[in-house]
Amino acid sequence: MDKTNVIRAGVFGTVIGDALGVPVEFAPRTMRVKDPVVDMREYGVHNQPKGTWSDDSSMLLATMDSMITCKGMDYGDIMERFQAWIRKAEYTAHGRVFDIGITCSSAVRRYEPGINPLDCGGAGERDNGNGSLMRIMPVSLYDALRSDFREDAVLAEAVTRSHYASCLTHRHPRSQMACAIYTAVCHELIYRDGRSIAEALQSAMDLIMDYYSKADVTAPWYDQGFQNELAFDTYGRLRDIASFGKLPEREIKSGGYVVHTLEAAIWCLLNTASFAECTLKTVNLGDDTDTVGAVAGGLAGLAYGYESIPKEWLEVIAKREWIDRLCVDLSDLINA
Ligand SMILES: [Mg+2]
Repeated sequence: MDKTNVIRAGVFGTVIGDALGVPVEFAPRTMRVKDPVVDMREYGVHNQPKGTWSDDSSMLLATMDSMITCKGMDYGDIMERFQAWIRKAEYTAHGRVFDIGITCSSAVRRYEPGINPLDCGGAGERDNGNGSLMRIMPVSLYDALRSDFREDAVLAEAVTRSHYASCLTHRHPRSQMACAIYTAVCHELIYRDGRSIAEALQSAMDLIMDYYSKADVTAPWYDQGFQNELAFDTYGRLRDIASFGKLPEREIKSGGYVVHTLEAAIWCLLNTASFAECTLKTVNLGDDTDTVGAVAGGLAGLAYGYESIPKEWLEVIAKREWIDRLCVDLSDLINA
């Protein structure tokens, strides 16, 4: 397996999904029915040129850069890079921060030396936007590419890392779980080995839900909040992938709520047959188009491979060469 190309597939898939959604962010689905996105657009709601990615990719790339520089996870360092993004417009497509979520912004501003970065994220029920899920891909790749999730201890470590990465901005168990589910899905899509996408997704859900059902007080993150979340079965619709994929589009919401974002991405992956078709369908669901596009784009990249991403979309991505360098460097870190 060419791990560098797997990383490119996940990272550029995310960045392209983000860039496809940026020009039409916030517009409702009814608008997209009348005027569907069929190609990379320019300008629109944020008045940005073609190929401009937003906060989703900025935070993802800052995380990647930190992992490469620190040779692994240094959560304080990641927070400092998030601050450099907000305060100095580092990690932006064109030197300007034009899109930022409230939960992310408050968490990043809360951090300073001496404060545990894992305590910074919002932990309220209303802090369950998609702001940690949208940037989790490099952490997911780091674990998925290095380990076999069928070994309990390995899966436990990967789940914990996804949870902690979420906590920087989103500390509610629901957001943490979304990130761990995403990591399991990435793992199964990477090691699909002839299985259908639906089979790989079902296997990921079985793995992670089985893990959660067995988790107990020995897990470092386990607390009452997780017990409540598991009892409530927030991600219950994803337990049976075949039935979930057959839901009509009106049952799929595409706003900023983390559960809806994860569901919309998986539903689009189940109901399309190529990278381009999946990302366009996602963006045409409307509302939080850049983030739902990013979350779906990463999965579609892994499902169909780097070569499946349209060249004309890759070519217009802002700072493409720098992003490619980060993919190569992350691959070196994973292979080390
Ligand atoms: Mg955005």
